[in-house]
Amino acid sequence: MIVVSGPSGAGKSTLIREALDAVPGLAYSVSATTRASREGEVDSRDYIFLTREEFEKWIREGCFLEWAEYSGNLYGTPEQRVEEFLSKGLSVILEVELQGARKVREKRPEAVMIFVQAPSMEETRKRLEGRATEDEKALEARMTTALTEVSAKDEFDYEVINSDRRQAREGIIRIMRNIVEEGTEDVEWA
Ligand code: ADP
Ligand code: 5GP
Repeated sequence: MIVVSGPSGAGKSTLIREALDAVPGLAYSVSATTRASREGEVDSRDYIFLTREEFEKWIREGCFLEWAEYSGNLYGTPEQRVEEFLSKGLSVILEVELQGARKVREKRPEAVMIFVQAPSMEETRKRLEGRATEDEKALEARMTTALTEVSAKDEFDYEVINSDRRQAREGIIRIMRNIVEEGTEDVEWA
């Protein structure tokens, strides 16, 4: 299990997409969320979009490996798909915020934890502004949360500073390749 976390706007989704394209043996855990879908997002590919009532039902039914509230919306990792991927010998990427990352680490201490951040808070803000998916209030809330997230970066096994796109891409691919290869070694020796 691979956890990728870090402030909104750091470039997590971008880097994960690139790693999935470049490294065989990886799978992506599609989260459920109550937030509205953004332009271009596809249900069940980017997120499983649920109403709050539906999400709360999934919580009651124990469907989530972890879930958390972030910026007024609920986000959670459906456990079943993750287990299916793992049982096929795939390494599964979970893109989750800090509370979720901590819950996964607690439940699955073997999870590899990767923290992604932009080179500065100014750059994080610029990227969020450039992405233009949040209104001003939501963007400010994400920037405030980012401070807490960055102060927790030492809880992670790897830190990727996403400054130069190409370098960050190579960095994350190297990390993911090592994880997949180590996982394969475990299978061979088991
Ligand atoms: P996150 O998933 O962490 O919220 P995204 O992957 O959506 O972040 O990236 C936020 C914005 O920053 C996107 O518009 C993306 O194209 C851009 N971006 C990602 N990586 C870089 C980079 N290294 N340099 C400049 N812009 C980047
Ligand atoms: P966004 O709204 O920008 O897609 O995501 C907001 C935050 O929620 C990001 O930090 C993202 O990593 C996190 N997130 C996405 N899916 C999950 C999930 O399943 N669980 C948790 N805890 N956080 C998630």
